[in-house]
Amino acid sequence: VRILAYESSCDETSTAVVKNGCEVESMVVATQIKSHQRFGGVVPEVASRHHIEVISQITTKALEEAKVTWKNIDAIAVTYGPGLVGALLIGVSAAKAASMATGIPLIGVDHIMGHIMAAQLTAKIDYPALALQVSGGHTEIVLLKDATHFEIVGDTRDDAVGEAYDKIGRVLGVNYPAGKTIDEWAHRGQDTFNFPRAMMEDDNYDFSFSGLKSAFINTCHHADQLHQSLNKYDLAASFQAAVVDVLAKKAIRAIKQYHPKTFIMGGGVAANRGLRDRMKIEIKQLPSNFDLKVILPELKLCGDNAAMIGAAAYNLYNEGKFADLSLNADPSLELPYAD
Ligand code: ATP
Ligand code: MG
Ligand code: FE
Repeated sequence: VRILAYESSCDETSTAVVKNGCEVESMVVATQIKSHQRFGGVVPEVASRHHIEVISQITTKALEEAKVTWKNIDAIAVTYGPGLVGALLIGVSAAKAASMATGIPLIGVDHIMGHIMAAQLTAKIDYPALALQVSGGHTEIVLLKDATHFEIVGDTRDDAVGEAYDKIGRVLGVNYPAGKTIDEWAHRGQDTFNFPRAMMEDDNYDFSFSGLKSAFINTCHHADQLHQSLNKYDLAASFQAAVVDVLAKKAIRAIKQYHPKTFIMGGGVAANRGLRDRMKIEIKQLPSNFDLKVILPELKLCGDNAAMIGAAAYNLYNEGKFADLSLNADPSLELPYAD
């Protein structure tokens, strides 16, 4: 089964050809980050315009790079939410137009299901699985009963972790998106500030990052007023230590509770070196009866891309979950898919 997939939910336009939900035959990612950087975040109208400018050419490019034509495509997949409505609409319209013109069936994919299924492009997922989904708009612990039935067991009460990285990055003068740079800085500093680890000991799988963000910003402003300069590497290391402590602790607690066969990480923040290393160490220390497979997606598949959408779409294809031409963008689409 060969799927052509579209992703345009935010500031990346991407197309990919994915075979059997696990083999990336081609992947094209057109990023718009440069256009948004001077605004310090994503500007929806600018995003839509960029998507519409590149989507046709990158469709052709994905087919060419995979050395296939429309005749070889079994399904067309597209992210229909969550995300920016105008941005989503470009992908959804392109996919619907292609489906109508070719008669190839259409599959609508949840963007977060896609992030989680990026793991399937690295190794086979054994179920039940548990996913730590960490991205610009989401921080969730998700239980996967099988490839299409997900249940959210933990969620953030306020900011998403990627969003927190971007906000504290801005205070340090780092360009949007700041996560990668803060991660690099963190490895050059020490946890000297001991920022709060909210909800870490609470008996649930939820998160809160707004207190950490405020503590960080207050520390910086206070030093500014006193004309003191703080070590940016130590600030980054202290922020990251707090984030990683909370995420790792809650993820391990959920693993102990749910006994999954596979642990997955998904989303842009899954590229974080500190988090990846810490999770590997924590999982090694589990008692030996936890025979847990760990799948961390390749770095280039953590951020937004269409290959992950093709992977998730394959699972929906196998269940006969097709969309028709009434498929619409749903900016606030939410897991779970329990039905
Ligand atoms: P969502 O997927 O929740 O709808 P999104 O698509 O905007 O939101 P992604 O593209 O998956 O989010 O991830 C982008 C986020 O990942 C940004 O906030 C970015 O700062 C963060 N990020 C990227 N690399 C790293 C890293 N190495 N460490 C921490 N954060 C990172
Ligand atoms: Mg993005
Ligand atoms: Fe995303």
